[in-house]
Amino acid sequence: MPKDYLAYLSSLNNKQQEAACSDISIPLMIVAGPGSGKTSTMVGRILMLLSEGISPSQILAMTFTTAAASEMRDRIGGVAGKAIAKDLMISTFHSFCLQLCRSHAEKLGRTAEFVLFGHGQQRRAIIEAVRLWETEKNKDHVEDIQEGPNFFKEKSKRWQKFVSQAKASGSTSEQHMESGDHIGGSILRNYDEILRSCNALDYHDLISCSVKLLTQFPEVYKECQELWKAIVIDEFQDTSSMQYSLLRILASHNRMTIVGDDDQSIFSFNGADISGFDSFRADFLNYKEIRLNKNYRSTRYIVEAASYLIRNNTKRCQSQNALTDNCSGSKIFVKECYNESAQCAFVIDKIVEITSDGSTAKCSHGNIAVLYRRQVSGKLFQSSFRERRIPFNAHGVAFYRKKVVRAIIAMLKTVSPGCDDGTYRQALKALLHLEKEEKKRVVEHIGKISMTQKCSFLSAATDIFNAKVSGTLKRNQLTQGRKTLSTLNMISKLAHREQSISAVITSVANLIPQKYLLDQRAVIDVDGGKLLNEDNDVRSVLQYLLDDVSDFLATKFTANKLENEAINGDKGCVCVLKEFLDYITERESEHFRSRRSENKDSVTLTTIHQSKGLEWDVVFIVKVNESEIPLLHEFKESMRGTESLVEEERRLFYVGMTRAKKKLFILYVTMNSNWQLLPPSRFLNEIPSHLMETQADFTVKCPERKFAVNPKENAQVNSVVQNEEESFPTNMASVKETDVDYEAPNEALKAWNGDAFLKRFNSEDRAIVS
Ligand code: ATP
Ligand code: MG
Repeated sequence: MPKDYLAYLSSLNNKQQEAACSDISIPLMIVAGPGSGKTSTMVGRILMLLSEGISPSQILAMTFTTAAASEMRDRIGGVAGKAIAKDLMISTFHSFCLQLCRSHAEKLGRTAEFVLFGHGQQRRAIIEAVRLWETEKNKDHVEDIQEGPNFFKEKSKRWQKFVSQAKASGSTSEQHMESGDHIGGSILRNYDEILRSCNALDYHDLISCSVKLLTQFPEVYKECQELWKAIVIDEFQDTSSMQYSLLRILASHNRMTIVGDDDQSIFSFNGADISGFDSFRADFLNYKEIRLNKNYRSTRYIVEAASYLIRNNTKRCQSQNALTDNCSGSKIFVKECYNESAQCAFVIDKIVEITSDGSTAKCSHGNIAVLYRRQVSGKLFQSSFRERRIPFNAHGVAFYRKKVVRAIIAMLKTVSPGCDDGTYRQALKALLHLEKEEKKRVVEHIGKISMTQKCSFLSAATDIFNAKVSGTLKRNQLTQGRKTLSTLNMISKLAHREQSISAVITSVANLIPQKYLLDQRAVIDVDGGKLLNEDNDVRSVLQYLLDDVSDFLATKFTANKLENEAINGDKGCVCVLKEFLDYITERESEHFRSRRSENKDSVTLTTIHQSKGLEWDVVFIVKVNESEIPLLHEFKESMRGTESLVEEERRLFYVGMTRAKKKLFILYVTMNSNWQLLPPSRFLNEIPSHLMETQADFTVKCPERKFAVNPKENAQVNSVVQNEEESFPTNMASVKETDVDYEAPNEALKAWNGDAFLKRFNSEDRAIVS
């Protein structure tokens, strides 16, 4: 075994070494709590596989995020060398499946250039599927549509959730029909048909189609068996049953290692299923199980508090509570704040204090994170950090949801063969130099013509602008339309002519009218994150996109092979561009994203979901209030039992707490922006007081009452849950409703000592709140 491998393995403890070095032909399960070195052991296991003569290109390592994949590649590269790390297949489930489906697209009724539908395209296809169903139904007069013609369009989110769930569980339109669910069955059938006609697949299809390829096409199975001699999976607890089926088929040679912690399973809304551990035990009978029980990450206070919390969960398969030798550190600091502004001010003051040169335990910005349950809670932090010039990186999917970015992406996508109508609509909207209202009317007019003439949006637009169809558009609108069409044409030529995708993206971004960008400035202002750290203009957006191009090229073509080489080789610019668009669609949808190119010495602002697997010296978890964590509107949305939802939320809080290495701050607010009282989270009651240092001005009680099954009864302070983006991946089953309308607080607040709060609040500091 090479010396560097040995050195790495000997840095592991005995249990970790035993796991990394156990017989590679025996399926291995490593189960352990947070910070116990699971990922570190997985790296050791890969080194072991390499030293046993398995070639890097035959090892498939699955992670859940592209960032985790590139981090793992870097770590292995650090020990085994970049060349070996480059040849390893370290991938997310989705990229792996995307590659498999592209290689065998014709077996799935698609061409290799099929389009990957992200959240927006999926939504548009669903609206179309529902509309088709409505038309069919009206024709047959089977039932009345009581809710009016726009009912299904308005409820498209619910249908999107339905379609995603059906796909995640593998249920087909035929099965829905057979079970008597004719509406669901028809919509699923229409949706699949639309995807087929657009030469597209969505995210769930990638997994189910890969399973189909492996089970129904023996040659694909054989090819994969020959290709992958060993499989290693990190964060196994987040594997869905469909993903597990895929793994089981791939790992029939038994050289499979899974690494996970059921207490950190936080994606059940997306189909993650911890029963995968039991399935593994049942399917791989000669498996070996190793538990790691030492926490290397956090101090005693953090480890103990987290394990007290998680003990309240009844559903725990592995029940691992890792211990730590690290007795240093201080108690968890729990702070009550009047409102979100006061909370933000406290965090900023603390950060300034601990990063200043005079601080006894000086900490760099890069070692600090602020975690929240919902993306919306990060907005105030972003603007305040900007004002106070505190460097930060805001992780989130918001960037790719911005209208201006979506417009650039839509324009780029028009170059891909099989681009859908919605993409043209978006691109056209971005390019039309018309007043907002005027533009809206033109786009609606094209939509109507395409509906009545049953033709695509693009061909309707072409006919209208070239005056082949008599219409109501004014002369200047027609001229604008023709210009826009020729610009779209130019983009296509550009992509075929340019030598690099960076050049194509730069040219395309510059085609967006400055006015359009100004229109979007408000949007950018609200949740711009890093964007507003720099100039608030197209250059910032562009720079951000070009950063992603660099990340993509680094992952795809290795650091020393330039994009130009790739393009001058077998791949044309259009082809590389298409791969890049797939790549960002994937990033847009994944649970966690971070940027390689981001400023390393910046405070991280992110959701708890996205903080998974990461660690920082100092962690602030903010807005730890009832209705935030646990997030109450989940109750209304979910069909699952209330108790299991609370348990999932508890696991989420557990993940948040265990990101901290040295110091953990937990903050909650006493009122929302509507001056409604907010009780602190019930989870704070579950941490023993001797582990906490509390700075609360009032006697605080967290509600202990169990939540009733009827969500209306749970209603209390949720008017705060307003239109917002969630921390969830956009294309998954997790799409959250925005029209949550809960009733006023009553009973639940009785448990909380609001009187004491009000008394004090009325006597002092009222100004702070306003
Ligand atoms: P999570 O469940 O949060 O993903 P994990 O179990 O994967 O955590 P790692 O991220 O691998 O844990 O390790 C946590 C920290 O402990 C890292 O900083 C790592 O470098 C350190 N660590 C792991 N094993 C050892 C060891 N044997 N000796 C010293 N430090 C270790
Ligand atoms: Mg890990």
